[in-house]
Amino acid sequence: EASVIQRDDHTMRLSDLSPNTQKVLRTLTAHNYDAYAVGGCVRDRLLGLDPKDFDVVTNATPEQIKACFRNCRLIGRRFRLAHITFGREIIEVATFRGHHVEDAKDSLAKQNSDGQLVRDNIFGSIEEDAARRDFTFNAMYFDASTENILDFADGIEAINTRHIKMIGDTEVRFKEDPVRMIRAARFSVKLSMAIPDDMQQSIRSHAHLLANIPPARLFEEVSKLLLSGKGEDTFLLMQKLGLFHILFPALNGMLNDPKGKEYQLITKMLKNTDERLASGQRITPAFLYATVLWYPMEERTQQLMFDTQMSHHDATNIASAEVIHRQVQRIMVPKRFSIPVREIWVLQSRLQKRFGKRPFQLLTHPRFRAAYDFLLLRGQIEGGDLLELAQWWTDFQEASPEQRTTMVKALG
Ligand code: ATP
Ligand code: MG
Repeated sequence: EASVIQRDDHTMRLSDLSPNTQKVLRTLTAHNYDAYAVGGCVRDRLLGLDPKDFDVVTNATPEQIKACFRNCRLIGRRFRLAHITFGREIIEVATFRGHHVEDAKDSLAKQNSDGQLVRDNIFGSIEEDAARRDFTFNAMYFDASTENILDFADGIEAINTRHIKMIGDTEVRFKEDPVRMIRAARFSVKLSMAIPDDMQQSIRSHAHLLANIPPARLFEEVSKLLLSGKGEDTFLLMQKLGLFHILFPALNGMLNDPKGKEYQLITKMLKNTDERLASGQRITPAFLYATVLWYPMEERTQQLMFDTQMSHHDATNIASAEVIHRQVQRIMVPKRFSIPVREIWVLQSRLQKRFGKRPFQLLTHPRFRAAYDFLLLRGQIEGGDLLELAQWWTDFQEASPEQRTTMVKALG
């Protein structure tokens, strides 16, 4: 079934993988198991890109994998995986998976797992494992023992002609797992390959199905989408495909005008993020969510103030909690990021109040830097007073202690 691309007919070598990935593959083959690097690393390597994340698959069961390594833990409930740890690097090793629940009776899963796991944790042959992957270029297996590549879905053709092609029927596979739609967008931008028209059409008509995906699964995928260095282009493509507002329902109806401030704020933030990543600077998902949800939060604040006459401060608190609460029902943003989102928002009005000791205290706030960056971003979009305020904070940070005192006094 697979076509074999012989070692001499391609340029990928074991040494292209991270040293720890190589160790894992060598250990498994030394124990007479089949072991492969698969997915993104093979695809990226053949495209001349630098793979960053290495997926390993084997015919060894999780228990058999565990028996080969001292530094191995089994994780996951839906799919049991082995994590092999080397200091800070973790290599994830999966057993070949079959896809049909009906096969459970004669698969290893039943014997090896404890009831509850059986439903999804179904082992299969390498052919079955390949068939349940998404795009043809993601079903190529680099054989650690021979350095041949096993190509089950003519992925090499997709690579050579720079084509995104689904394994099997596009519509069926999108319905089976709607996350594949955002993966198509991600690969299109990352690999500079166009999504064929019929696939675009299919994405437009099935985009709403993303709402059925468990929120916990989407956090990682969305981070890979928007925070991997090509966020701006990915956003534009997602807009074109009608995917963005499904992931961020609070923005439904707010992004129709590319010149509108909502649209501008998001593209500007993503552009900055792409630039930060390109120059090796740190980024945080908190900044992404704070920006994307800012206008929905502000609008809700205004509405609450109008409806109930509550203070701006109270309205902001309530609106923030509401908007985040709704968002995490779609994308499970971990608390360590959603709490800073609220802090960045609350600090926006505190940055306005610059009398007495306040500006000096704010400088030491752990979220000051992010809040200031966000103010600067808002200033660039809205101009006017906001831009002046951002400029004041820029100057204040650069000023000497005496100059700072003078600056505060000058405000009256
Ligand atoms: P990246 O370089 O961004 O990691 P990747 O293709 O390796 O890209 P992963 O999310 O690491 O993406 O997934 C590894 C492999 O698992 C994919 O190449 C694909 O074969 C398979 N896969 C991942 N998600 C899906 C999915 N939703 N449906 C089918 N196969 C999938
Ligand atoms: Mg990967």
